[in-house]
Amino acid sequence: MEDAKLTRRGSLAGMAGLLLGLAGWEAADSEGAGPAGVASGAVSCVLTPEQTEGPYYIAGEKYRRNITDGRPGVPLFLRLRVVDASTCKPIAGAAVDIWHADAIGVYSGFGAGAKSRTFMRGIQKTDANGLARFRTVYPGWYQGRTVHIHVKVHVAGNVVHTGQLYFSDSLTDKVFRRKPYSRRARRTTRNANDFVFAQGGRRSLLSVHKSGTAYVGAITMGVSR
Ligand code: FE
Repeated sequence: MEDAKLTRRGSLAGMAGLLLGLAGWEAADSEGAGPAGVASGAVSCVLTPEQTEGPYYIAGEKYRRNITDGRPGVPLFLRLRVVDASTCKPIAGAAVDIWHADAIGVYSGFGAGAKSRTFMRGIQKTDANGLARFRTVYPGWYQGRTVHIHVKVHVAGNVVHTGQLYFSDSLTDKVFRRKPYSRRARRTTRNANDFVFAQGGRRSLLSVHKSGTAYVGAITMGVSR
């Protein structure tokens, strides 16, 4: 319990700084949730920004932790926590639905990935702590976008959040020196010049640490239901 409080305080401290720089985000609703509510002290958690679903979503994917279908890449473990933005309490039983490009920048179901509709796609239910865990690989880049992972959160059959998760550019630079990423041309788009990242992406940066040859990425997503 004490740990949870400390974590919350820590993330709010970081959040307050970020919010000062985000004049354009108008997500506060009539009940005082969102940044305005936080600034006023009315609520203690923050909605994670909604970001475009993009053109590559496929509904009804498999419930599975390992979403790679055996495709290569630097191993990435994801720990995605879902909390109610108005109470900060974890939401158990939410379906966290993720999809991303493989290490060479291809989506299953589209273009060069059209033969499969499943690689780098999957759903996990959150546990009692609101945590959904995945095993995947670090995403590759594709034309016009910075490296990202798409996410949707469903609660009781309703989509309560659609967003994108990001990595620091310095980490991506480091990972992309490894195979198979290093066989490709230099990426064209970084966080700083990505048109979707520009809309609140800093608040959807994964916190990443190294674990052996793998990485572990974590984030808490505040949703409104
Ligand atoms: Fe995408």
